[in-house]
Amino acid sequence: MVRLQSYLQDQWMPGEGTPRVLVNPATEEPLAETTTEGLDFAAALAHARDVGGPALRAMSFAERGALLKAMSRALHADREGLLALSSQCNGATRGDSKFDVDGATGTLSSYAYLGKTLGEGRYQIDGEADKLSKGARYVGQHVRLPRPGVAVHINAFNFPAWGTFEKIATAILAGVPVITKPATATATLTHRMIQIIVEAGILPAGVLGFVAGPAGDLLDHLGPQDMIAFTGSAWTAAKLRSGAGVLQRSVRINVEADSLNAAVLAPDVGPGDPVWHAFVRAVVKDMTQKTGQKCTAIRRVFVPTDRIDDVVEAFSEELAGIVVGDPQRSDVSMGPVATASQLRDCREGINLLAKEAEIVVGGPAPVSGVGVADGKGYFVAPTLLVARDADATSEVHRHEVFGPCATVIGYDGTAETAAAQVARGEGCLVSSVYGSDRDWLSSFLFAAASWNGRVQVCSEKVADQVFPPGMVLPNQVHGGPGRAGGGEELGGVRGMDFYTNRVAIQGDRGLLKKILGTP
Ligand code: NAP
Repeated sequence: MVRLQSYLQDQWMPGEGTPRVLVNPATEEPLAETTTEGLDFAAALAHARDVGGPALRAMSFAERGALLKAMSRALHADREGLLALSSQCNGATRGDSKFDVDGATGTLSSYAYLGKTLGEGRYQIDGEADKLSKGARYVGQHVRLPRPGVAVHINAFNFPAWGTFEKIATAILAGVPVITKPATATATLTHRMIQIIVEAGILPAGVLGFVAGPAGDLLDHLGPQDMIAFTGSAWTAAKLRSGAGVLQRSVRINVEADSLNAAVLAPDVGPGDPVWHAFVRAVVKDMTQKTGQKCTAIRRVFVPTDRIDDVVEAFSEELAGIVVGDPQRSDVSMGPVATASQLRDCREGINLLAKEAEIVVGGPAPVSGVGVADGKGYFVAPTLLVARDADATSEVHRHEVFGPCATVIGYDGTAETAAAQVARGEGCLVSSVYGSDRDWLSSFLFAAASWNGRVQVCSEKVADQVFPPGMVLPNQVHGGPGRAGGGEELGGVRGMDFYTNRVAIQGDRGLLKKILGTP
């Protein structure tokens, strides 16, 4: 069996003790094993801080961008191998695998281009100098400097490629070395990608570390200039945020957590309208892409009460065409969820929602996967529930079923009620709204937008152009308030804020101009 090794202090390290076995979630066949016991994380952090950090800080944005470009190219060169591995290890169809793997190379490439446009600078000048005294001589200039620490990246199981490299791209461009840790269950794909980058000899020593499994005491050794960028459940986030080291040494932490994202159908849209088709496509795509294991997936679908039957009919027709089974087969359109515990959580979650909503498609019962021995694999049926009265719901706004499941919820058709219902999720990564009536949209947006990191407005003139709302783009902010974690990632140059310190430097205008290289 393949042994995944961690890559720390520029060396591969196998770990000690009893390894955990990772399986193909479609067949339950063992594929790899890993352990991180016995690894010296204090030494790994010190190496990244002392060797990787200075090397990156000495480089210009353009040079750091060139590293990202080389990483993107090296990974893309083995795209077919990575897509096959993703399908085998993560239960992902070829389409799902492309979403993850191409998302990684695309984001690296996007940040590489940003580095090129930022050019020869090594840090960012933040705005104009402020005059601080009566004369023109004494001024204050804000600058954003790379933090002289290490970025520890902790990722969720659902995006072992994209989740890893969207964070790495931003940190390296900002000038900060990284130790990245995927979720153990899906670490095999990340391991292969790190191997490719190491073998290509792209990065200076100390810039990239990789932990192939549990974090052990890694976070106990973080210092005041280190950072944690975390993606995962709100429960783990709360635990990490309240860690003694994080609190006592003000370790900076960014959290991307669960989210009960909403799609809202406005009352001016009905069957036959192009906006209606975009709405149906988006919801069904989000329910089934990556078997619904997407932090940005639509979980709550708000529909004017008199449209519920039409919506359920349209969704049901589309969902009937979904073939669940071994994702390595080309006739399968949805694979299993990633782990046995994920399967258990999905089934329990559907049962919980079914206490206040009616199951109209699918449900929690065991499913046999096409091309898989009976009783094997972590398969869940695409599941649609309906709650006709929004006021009679509570769990649908609270409990995230991290699988192919969404609930249609009736509302009275007013923008105010729709916005209030979206807000019941207490903070979403993204919501989408489908309608073209400007007054209605305006009322909705101003009331609902602040409960989201991103809002997609799908109206008549863009209905054939919008991406599914679940798609995260490198130049747009990803994150959300409240239960979504309160964090922010990506957003082009904004993404680097987390990895830099803003410092106001005050002094003689002429002297500062020369030192900082400002025009
Ligand atoms: P999880 O159980 O919270 O695990 C997330 C990561 O945290 C894993 O790498 C896990 O490592 C690590 N971890 C757990 N306990 C830790 C500890 N004490 N110290 C350090 N690291 C620790 O979440 P998950 O099940 O992988 O992911 C599913 C959740 O992530 C869903 O709720 C989903 O909504 C959310 N998510 C959010 C986003 C977003 O961008 N907002 C994106 C994707 C997923 P091990 O695997 O080794 O335990």
